[in-house]
Amino acid sequence: MSTQPKITVATAWLDGCSGCHMSFLDLDERLIELVEHVEIVYSPLVDTKELPARVDVGILEGSISSEDDLEKARLFRERCTRLVSLGDCAVTGNVPAMRNHFKLADVFDRAYRENVTLQPQIPTRRVPALLTPVKPVHGEVKVDVFVPGCPPSADAIWYVLSELIAGRMPDPNAVTRFGA
Ligand code: SF4
Repeated sequence: MSTQPKITVATAWLDGCSGCHMSFLDLDERLIELVEHVEIVYSPLVDTKELPARVDVGILEGSISSEDDLEKARLFRERCTRLVSLGDCAVTGNVPAMRNHFKLADVFDRAYRENVTLQPQIPTRRVPALLTPVKPVHGEVKVDVFVPGCPPSADAIWYVLSELIAGRMPDPNAVTRFGA
């Protein structure tokens, strides 16, 4: 790890299972070294609720499946110098994009009517509207670094962050692969 000044990092999960963020936490003792080089300014892992106006590195887990995901991806793109697509859902659509093979009405019926015994109903209030089709992050905004894997390993995340901290553009091809 270099002795460069701290970089600011923001992370968010869109339509994902949080597994990619869990892999981030799998850095274990390396997290202690990381905080010497990185300030996490916005993330499900910290309390901050507002994305700062400028961030060095934005990391997005999950695909774009709802209006809320789309809004967040656009905001990250606007405010982050480098945008990282973390994990297969962000890179390809992966599991969330499986619903692209079905009509949205059928998906709703399956999830909220057919498999529910108590008050089956489709939620319409206080939930973000779903978009069709589900897209990978780069389907809506420009992505600078793609990190495949379901989830990407902690070693892959460490490599990517180390390169970005050093001011280099990482090439994760050698340390990642699609799937587990
Ligand atoms: S890539 Fe895998 S681990 Fe990451 S959010 Fe998607 S399903 Fe979860």
